[in-house]
Formats: sequence, C-alpha cells, structure tokens
Amino acid sequence: MTVSTCVSAAKNGRIFIVGATGFIGRFVAEASLDAGQPTYVLVRPGPLDPSKADIIKALKDRGAIILHGVISDKALMEKLLREHEIEVVISAVGGATILDQITLVEAIQAVGTIKRFLPSEFGHDVDRAEPVEPGLTMYLEKRRVRRCVEKSGVPYTYICCNSIASWPYFDNKHPSEVLPPLDQFQIYGDGSIKAYFIDGTDIGKFTMKTVDDIRTINKNVHFRPPSNISDINGLASLWEKKIGRTLPRVTITEDDLLNIAAENRIPESIVASFTHDIFIKGCQVNFPVEGPHDVEIGTLYPEESFRTLDECFNDFLLKLEDRLELEKNKVSTKTTAVVEPRAVTATCA
Ligand code: NDP
Repeated sequence: MTVSTCVSAAKNGRIFIVGATGFIGRFVAEASLDAGQPTYVLVRPGPLDPSKADIIKALKDRGAIILHGVISDKALMEKLLREHEIEVVISAVGGATILDQITLVEAIQAVGTIKRFLPSEFGHDVDRAEPVEPGLTMYLEKRRVRRCVEKSGVPYTYICCNSIASWPYFDNKHPSEVLPPLDQFQIYGDGSIKAYFIDGTDIGKFTMKTVDDIRTINKNVHFRPPSNISDINGLASLWEKKIGRTLPRVTITEDDLLNIAAENRIPESIVASFTHDIFIKGCQVNFPVEGPHDVEIGTLYPEESFRTLDECFNDFLLKLEDRLELEKNKVSTKTTAVVEPRAVTATCA
C-alpha cells in the first residue's frame, strides 16, 4: 500500500476522466462538472464523428479542459497527470480497451500522487458474477485490471451500479439510448428475476460522490436503491401504464439467450450473456452486500434520493412524444393526409 491510501482526495481536487465521449463516461463527466470539480477530459486524437465533436464542445463550454492522448501511452499519461496535478482518475473505456487500463495504472503508480482511481466497471461485481462467454472474457479482463490496481497500492473504488434504467434489450449495448418497445415485450424466462435499474445521471452523480469519500477507499460500491428494483414483468406493466395500452409478451427462454451468446457476434452475444446472467441467474441480487470490501451506496448517502424507475419511464414517454411530434410534422409537410398515430409509433420501437 502506498502512503496515499490513507489520504482522501480534496473536495475540489482535479479529476481526469477517460472515455467522456462514451455512453457511461459522458454521465460521469457531466456530473463532475455539476459538482464543480476541475474536470480534465482525455480525448483520443484523430478525426471525430459529429456527435462526439458535439459532446466535447458541450463539455468544453461547461468548463472541461480537453486533453488529447490514449491511455496505452504510459509516458504521455504520466506527463499529463503530473503537469495538471490530477488527484482522481476515472476511466470509462469500453469493452474493447479494458486491458489498456493496465498501462494507465502503471502511469498512475509512477506518478505516485493520485489519491483515487476508478477503473471502468460501472456494472456488476465482476469478481462475483460469472456470465457465460463471451461476456465472461470481458469480466476476466476487468478482474485482471482489478488485481493490477490492488497490487499497485493506488487507492481505488469499484462502481457496481448494476443496469442503466431502460428497457433491457438482449442485443443492445447502450439500452437507454432507445425507447422501450411499442410492439411487443420480450420477457426473459418467467420474467420474475429482479434487477436494479439506475438513471444515467445518478450513475454519474453518485460516482462523483465516492471519489473524495474516505469510506469508499478500496471498496466495491453497490447501487441497490429500493426505488429502482424491478423484474421484467414489472418493467412491462410500468411501460403499459405510461403508454396507456397493453402489449403482447413473447418469452425468450434461457436456451434462446444461451444460443445467441454462443453465436459469438460482438457486441450482441456479449449483451445476451449478461442478459442471461441478470434475468435468469439473478447475478445482481443473489448475494448480500456484507463483505469487508462491500458498501451499499444508500448507506453512505441516505439523504440523497435516486431518480425512480417511474420518473425514468416518464422521460421515455416524453422522448416518444417528441419523436411522434417530429414524425407528424415531417409527414404533414409532405402531405395533407391525416397521420395515423399507431403506424408512426411502430417505427419508433
Ligand atoms: P463506450 O464504448 O461508449 O465509450 C468508451 C469511451 O472510452 C470512448 O470515449 C472512447 O473514446 C474512450 N476510449 C476507449 N479506449 C481508449 C483509450 N485507449 N484511450 C483513451 N480513450 C479511450 O463505452 P461504454 O460507455 O459502453 O462502457 C464504459 C463502461 O461502462 C464499461 O466498463 C462497460 O462495461 C460499462 N457499461 C455499463 C452499462 C450498464 O448498464 N451498467 C451499459 C454500458 C456500458 P472514442 O470516443 O475515441 O471511441
């Protein structure tokens, strides 16, 4: 253990975020700015697609300092961390580059002044969950990064935030970017296994709360808010309540999920293996949070509430209405014919 293990990061210490143009990293970067932390965002060099350029501009406009580089460049990482006197490093790199974090850990260790490292976790407790392949390979890589962090002596926090609030499509890597279905529900198994669904903004907000909290040093932080637990039958009923009609339910069996996982199509098969682990095996709820390295987020911040599943589904309804309005306007500028709302909604699913 290094000496810095005992020292918590300063309240407004400098935060270095890797992966802010990604799905989860953006929530974290925005939360860091919301919390008033000096926020340094690492962007990979090279041409950016317009949506990523927009994200970077929005973060920059809010005060983020943009740095360029890749985490596999140890010398550059050391230089940036030293030059900018970084206290906390948060990584939200995606599945393909999980192992690149090993070089980042080496750079952090060499610098010697980083008070906290949060590797790219943001899901299940990868030492406990055991999905089938190809998801398992990702967990084996995340476990390798964990062992490397622990060996380095750099103080760490593992964010086990469970699922992002959304309809959990078995073949979609970034579920909250698409709306819940409007044609039929796919129910995994008997639909009775519970899981936690956390709003992306809360993943960011609560992640940022942990970075300077001495109680989260070298801990797995589990997100299990009681307002955000549901089985898939419950999610289906909630969405039916929001849209004001019922939809047919189709069963996706355990074997169906295992067969899709076995096809080894990336990323769909990885998502199918996690879907199997969550909704058939119950990987989010089949252990108590009671180990010496475990802490539940609600016990740390009991005064802070999470956005409920009900609120998250209201957001999806608003997005749906916006899309419907947009579709309607598009059609009405082309033709004077009356728009048939259900035909339009079907294209949104
Ligand atoms: P994305 O693929 O959306 O984004 C990855 C980000 O990391 C991008 O900004 C990318 O930059 C950047 N990046 C990747 N490699 C490097 C590198 N070598 N150097 C610098 N930057 C790099 O990732 P996700 O948001 O999907 O995944 C992040 C984490 O969240 C993962 O651990 C994943 O397992 C987890 N996750 C959890 C979910 C949940 O429901 N709980 C859902 C989805 C993910 P660029 O823009 O250049 O590509």
